[in-house]
Amino acid sequence: MTANRQRTTAIQPTLIPRPEHNISRANISQGALRVLRQLKDAGFAAHLVGGGVRDLLLGREPKDFDVATDAHPDQVKQVFGRHCRLIGRRFRLAHVRMGREIIEVATFRGRADAKPGADPGNGMLQQDNVYGSIEEDALRRDFTINALYYNIADFSVLDFGQGMVDLRAGTLRLLGDPQQRFQEDPVRMLRAVRFAAKLGFNIDRQMERLIPRHADLLKEVPSARLYDECLKLFHGGQALETFEKLRHYHLFEVLFPDTERCLADEEEHFPITFVSHGLHNTDQRINQDKPVTPAFLFAVLLWEPVRRQARILREQEGEAEIPALQQAGGEMIARLVRRVAVPRRFSLMMREIWQLQPRFDQRQGKRPLRLASHPRFRAAYDFLLLRAQAGEVEQELADWWTQFQQNEGAGVTIDPELSEDTAPKKRRRRRPRKKPEQSQS
Ligand code: ATP
Ligand code: MG
Repeated sequence: MTANRQRTTAIQPTLIPRPEHNISRANISQGALRVLRQLKDAGFAAHLVGGGVRDLLLGREPKDFDVATDAHPDQVKQVFGRHCRLIGRRFRLAHVRMGREIIEVATFRGRADAKPGADPGNGMLQQDNVYGSIEEDALRRDFTINALYYNIADFSVLDFGQGMVDLRAGTLRLLGDPQQRFQEDPVRMLRAVRFAAKLGFNIDRQMERLIPRHADLLKEVPSARLYDECLKLFHGGQALETFEKLRHYHLFEVLFPDTERCLADEEEHFPITFVSHGLHNTDQRINQDKPVTPAFLFAVLLWEPVRRQARILREQEGEAEIPALQQAGGEMIARLVRRVAVPRRFSLMMREIWQLQPRFDQRQGKRPLRLASHPRFRAAYDFLLLRAQAGEVEQELADWWTQFQQNEGAGVTIDPELSEDTAPKKRRRRRPRKKPEQSQS
């Protein structure tokens, strides 16, 4: 290992030899192993790093395997040829395709603030290609448990913080000065909460104290990044716990100020139970490998503010129920996307889910059948079930619609909203449709 001359990055990693840790090659994907070996054979350093190493050490199944190397991207390209694609505007990375796997290969990065003109505190990560040593790469990472490197050359683990100690103790600890690390990149606060919920870890004392005080820094983070982060927070299978932690650390109110305002001033415990039921439902679907859509998630998160705003419009401006709901939905989405950039296709779907709600009250004549053939019926019906669970509408109403679908049979079992992400084109309606009308919203 090259001695590091830079004062602040001079650290001694601990080397944990193969017999003293539990990472076995049998648990690393074939693709990642091949990438590591080929880099090593070409004379480069090659390490598994990040969540993959952390999860293996914890005996969990890693989501994916990331590789870090001292080879520069074009050298990685030379090693893997047409199997390699260089990507990334923020930082050049290589994607190496091995069979059906894609392994991300990143060159060791230098210190974020080593670049002249770096401006910590702007809520953005440094974006340029500054390559560095493995030590520097380690110190840029967020938590000690995410800065462990599995070296393919001798199967040892390199620990640059106190990652192994923290893994054993179940502690999340930032590398470096926590305040500075949050200022550099406030998203780390969200990541702390996400990992705490996912791994059942404790957030260390210092961070606990700092997060509520720095929560507002999230306002500086680009809304597109916050959207991505929200999906990781709420579509990771621990949404309910994550939500509770986000509220505890005063982060939720920065992401969803309108929702927080409703939660804080709850009526008959209603708001909290609605969001909680919705997130619990999302967790269940994910843990059963059922598809989920961001539209449903955000529709749940914003329902209470929308409902309240609609009531104000009805009571103060004499609006009718459906237009009031439409207008309230539009207003709340406009406010949401300034902070969390939900893509338009999902915000349109959210509005449809909301707008269909009053139509569940209309059970006469042909109306139920017409509602049931709406492309968003299934999502709107699931939403209705949640409202009933939370006590906002009578359970009898939800039961009626459940029964109605059973009676009507296959005609109403379309489930297009949930296939939106996974297989947008797969489900074809049986009858050719008229040219789809643009929804009013
Ligand atoms: P997951 O299982 O959710 O993928 P992960 O730890 O692999 O967890 P990624 O977002 O895939 O998380 O990031 C990979 C690694 O990159 C992290 O383990 C961490 O070392 C580093 N990293 C990611 N985001 C940041 C950040 N905002 N600041 C510093 N380091 C980061
Ligand atoms: Mg990862």
